Amino acid sequence: MAFDPSIYNPDCRACGRLANFLDTVRSKHPTYFCKPVPPFGSAQAQVLVVGLAPGMHGANATGRPFTGDWCSDLLYGTLHEFGFATQPRSVSHDDAQQLVNCRLTNAVKCLPPDNKPTPLEIKTCVDFLAHEIAALTPAVIVCLGAVAHDAVLQCLARHTPGIRRSQFKFGHGAEHRVGDIRVVDSYHPSRYNTNTGRLTPEMFRSVFQRVRDLVDGL
Ligand code: SF4
Repeated sequence: MAFDPSIYNPDCRACGRLANFLDTVRSKHPTYFCKPVPPFGSAQAQVLVVGLAPGMHGANATGRPFTGDWCSDLLYGTLHEFGFATQPRSVSHDDAQQLVNCRLTNAVKCLPPDNKPTPLEIKTCVDFLAHEIAALTPAVIVCLGAVAHDAVLQCLARHTPGIRRSQFKFGHGAEHRVGDIRVVDSYHPSRYNTNTGRLTPEMFRSVFQRVRDLVDGL
């Protein structure tokens, strides 16, 4: 899929630390994608799901958000259950998976060391996300984790005069109205959150049940 370069630039090296890290990872894993990971899904989708950043052996390896690692089965399984994906699993960029009225992207497009982008890296990459949201005009944005929530609010604040980001606190299942957009928060479906029970499959299902209801009510 061709992207507007304001939404996705496969050659971006604006964050030197992340670009250098990708160079190192590429030398160790020459078959991995190891570039900024593009969004996945229709440019007309009403639902935009925003994660944190590519995982080392998932999106960074396959080149598709949330594909090929621990997070994948819970996210795509849940999307499939609620009619937002054609398959319950996403294992590679060339499998049969398709999203339905849904698009996946990350707040930070490049793999960060230890899954932790710096505040400056988030701020730098948020320009891509802001352009993506402006072009997509989604009805519902699902934020997977507090970093995604903060990044999305940064984007929305640019286009919604008068809002204060402090009005919109992150919390699992929290729902916010920003202009015409509903923002729905979830804990990130990471291995840590699922292993510790912070996020259960039921908790995740309840978020996407709400998203389904919102979309069906449009
Ligand atoms: S994280 Fe975003 S802004 Fe930074 S280098 Fe990657 S694509 Fe560019």
